[in-house]
Amino acid sequence: MPGDRNRPDGAPWHALAVDRVLAALDTSAEGLSNAEASARQARYGPNRLTLQQPASLTEIVAGQLRSVIVFLLLGAVVVSLLFGDRVEAAAIAAVLVINTVLGVVTELRARRAIEGLLALDVPYASAIRDGHLRVINAIDLVPGDVIELSAGRQVPADARLIHSVDLRADEAPLTGESFPVEKTPEPILTDDALLAERVNMIYKGTVVLSGLGRALVTATGAATEVGRIGTLVGSVRIEKTPLERRLDTLGGHLVWIACGVAALVAGLGALQGMPVHVVIETAIALAVAAVPEALPAVATIALAVGVHRMARRQALVRRLPAVESLGSTTVVCTDKTRTLTSGEMTVVRVWTADRDVSLDGSDTNAIRDAAVVHLLEAAALASRPAAEAGSQPRAAGGDPVDIAMLRAADAAGIDLPRLIADRPKVGELPFSSERKLMASFHRQGNETVAYVKGAPRAILAISRRIAGPDIERDLDDAGRAELVDGNNRLAREGLRVLAVASGPVTSTAEASLTDLTFNGLVGLEDPPAANVRQTIARLRGAGLRTVMLTGDQQLTAEAIGRKLGLLDPDQRAIDGRALDRMSPDELSAAVAQVAAFSRITPEHKLRIVQSLQARGEIVAMLGDGVNDAAALKQANVGVAMGVRGTDVAKQAASIVLGDDRFETIAAAVEEGRIIFDNIRKFVFYLFSCNVAEILVLLCAGLAGLPLPLLPLQLLWLNLVTDTFPALALAMEPAESDVMTRPPRQPQEAILSGPFLTSVFAYASLITISTLAAFLWALQTSAAHASTVAFMTLGLAQTAHLGNARSERPVLRPGRAAANRFALGGAAISVALQLTAALVPPLAALLHLTPLGAADWIVIVTLALLPAVIGQSVKLVRSRQNAAAGSFPAARR
Ligand code: ADP
Ligand code: MG
Repeated sequence: MPGDRNRPDGAPWHALAVDRVLAALDTSAEGLSNAEASARQARYGPNRLTLQQPASLTEIVAGQLRSVIVFLLLGAVVVSLLFGDRVEAAAIAAVLVINTVLGVVTELRARRAIEGLLALDVPYASAIRDGHLRVINAIDLVPGDVIELSAGRQVPADARLIHSVDLRADEAPLTGESFPVEKTPEPILTDDALLAERVNMIYKGTVVLSGLGRALVTATGAATEVGRIGTLVGSVRIEKTPLERRLDTLGGHLVWIACGVAALVAGLGALQGMPVHVVIETAIALAVAAVPEALPAVATIALAVGVHRMARRQALVRRLPAVESLGSTTVVCTDKTRTLTSGEMTVVRVWTADRDVSLDGSDTNAIRDAAVVHLLEAAALASRPAAEAGSQPRAAGGDPVDIAMLRAADAAGIDLPRLIADRPKVGELPFSSERKLMASFHRQGNETVAYVKGAPRAILAISRRIAGPDIERDLDDAGRAELVDGNNRLAREGLRVLAVASGPVTSTAEASLTDLTFNGLVGLEDPPAANVRQTIARLRGAGLRTVMLTGDQQLTAEAIGRKLGLLDPDQRAIDGRALDRMSPDELSAAVAQVAAFSRITPEHKLRIVQSLQARGEIVAMLGDGVNDAAALKQANVGVAMGVRGTDVAKQAASIVLGDDRFETIAAAVEEGRIIFDNIRKFVFYLFSCNVAEILVLLCAGLAGLPLPLLPLQLLWLNLVTDTFPALALAMEPAESDVMTRPPRQPQEAILSGPFLTSVFAYASLITISTLAAFLWALQTSAAHASTVAFMTLGLAQTAHLGNARSERPVLRPGRAAANRFALGGAAISVALQLTAALVPPLAALLHLTPLGAADWIVIVTLALLPAVIGQSVKLVRSRQNAAAGSFPAARR
């Protein structure tokens, strides 16, 4: 059976010659017809893997149960039982169960949501169907299909190679060994060759690092090697962000603080002769009060919400920590072509030894010049036609340089199909960023002729002659000077300059490209993409510097850099050659100043990113090539293009731009900052609420008053009343200065000095209100006073939501309603608090007594006080700041 390695007739695919593989799969080197492919689809099913369950339920439950809160609550249950308070023990146990279930559900849902977003697009494949190379959905591949492999792309199925040039693959996902493996159809291996030794096979899930290849699909879906293993090494994982880790540590510290305070109060109580069970109850209440039980769930949800918002703006997050790094990013490194520029290239100028013509149609005679025609012919022959758009039109459309060359030849009336019919293609050398050229080899009469195009310097290095007006002449110093002059004239206009050479060669290997004839230069226009200039300015306003790293030459880079507002008229780009000679210190000084680098190789990109990081910069790097992977991984935030980026780049990146637009990076930065702001907001909210609870208990304890709040009441406040407002804060819209303030300091602790000061200030206000209400009600009975304190504290916490929402007042109706979740959250929180007081069984459980009209007036007035004071202070401060013309960043 085709597609099965253990076929009854014996030998596995790697032990068979290509013709026997073709026969066994009942196909030909020209691929399948669409009809046959559909028939096989029905037989073999879709080429899809079902990977492992992303996160197992037991794992998540275990994670939830490991938390400190659980131990605290368990302790409380045990103590309550010891003192014979069964109702209380049962209630706390119920809280424990509900808390765990809620935690598991939120985490599960958030994880699923994030994992869905993290998953990459369905990959596509280039396959020959009905005799044409087409881009199709990789799911539609069947055994017997002939696929084409190219650098940067994922291998879509297991396949036997038929043909390869310079083909190298990274098989780490399968073998775990991450170095490039050379792949060639040649050797026929023994049956027992190991997976890592099968050079004539290529496997699903691995990636092509360089070169080209054609291969015959032998297995798809679950029948592939990776399908048998059932997992992909290095597939997406959920990682904790640095902030989440800091919050975890913080939670740990809080428990210790709580224990200390509890011991203090319990000790004081014991000294004053309080009964033991009251002392212990107080200690438990304090411990419960100190721990922000809702924090982990809210943090997970905030990240999930943020990731979702980013996805809506076409920034797809693959690694969560990147979301946080975005908020502190200071430098955006980006390649030029197709990122800053549109990538829709047009040939607008050609230069030959005796002519320099514009191809805008004004000089029709030029097109008839033999040297110009030969130049355009050679350029077209050295280009690869794009695969036809099949079922994946978004992914189709070859190299824009090549497309521009083919179009120019077509416009000049050159009949390329006839040309190729006369000079059949016998080989090719694919483009690579290191080589900076590509070649196509053709049989012409009884010799092999190479047509080569690439960066002018690379082409000059392999040319011995130059095509002159009448005959070829040797390329002497005068000829070179002329050529450099022509190149500079084109480059200064911002054109991308490619040189073309051709000539007979002895073989189709790269080494044979030595004594060619220089045909001339082609100038391509690649205009800046829409809104790039504005985006660069916007990023600058937000304190982010943009640095352009291009493989193009210096003059071209400078012209484009000026158009985009990256360079001043007299500023220069730094060339890769100069960079090679720089010491680390010189490079460090350069990266601090310069906004454009030219003739940059992938290694340069890596060095530049590292040098920036050594200066303390947080670097986002945009790239799309195979060789950008190292720099993308090194950067704090690697960003790949989703549509035209290579699979290699996408896998290395932590963010993928779904629309390939540079603008989207600014949107991602903005969302990253909003997420961080909102996390600060609910941490602020939950902390000020918890600190208020501790202060109330501490003050009452120190003053020798009865216990104002019972453990169960505190659990109610922390788990029920506080949660909805905190969740709502995760949805707060952007602050108005989100993109006009500088990036957040990466090492800035979430609990900075000013942050803690304002936590304590607001917590004190809430404490004063609560204690005032408690003291007022203490005239009647301790139970009644506790009820009044509980209601005041609960409602004050809800009203305090307004203070947490923004550094500015949220009193204007428009601003107040900007986050409808905040209004909803407050409403739910108030409703629940009232339910506690008014529904008898619940009131009994929480030890609440009935309240009279006077109680309610005192409760509501005092509960609103912290919010009223908070909003007034904010109002005054924002007036002052408006008058001063600025607003201090990240202060509350
Ligand atoms: P960039 O960083 O601007 O994308 P590349 O590494 O893609 O730069 O290209 C570097 C140089 O290689 C270009 O300036 C050009 O001279 C040459 N080049 C780019 N694309 C092609 C191609 N398709 N064929 C031949 N040469 C090319
Ligand atoms: Mg490029």
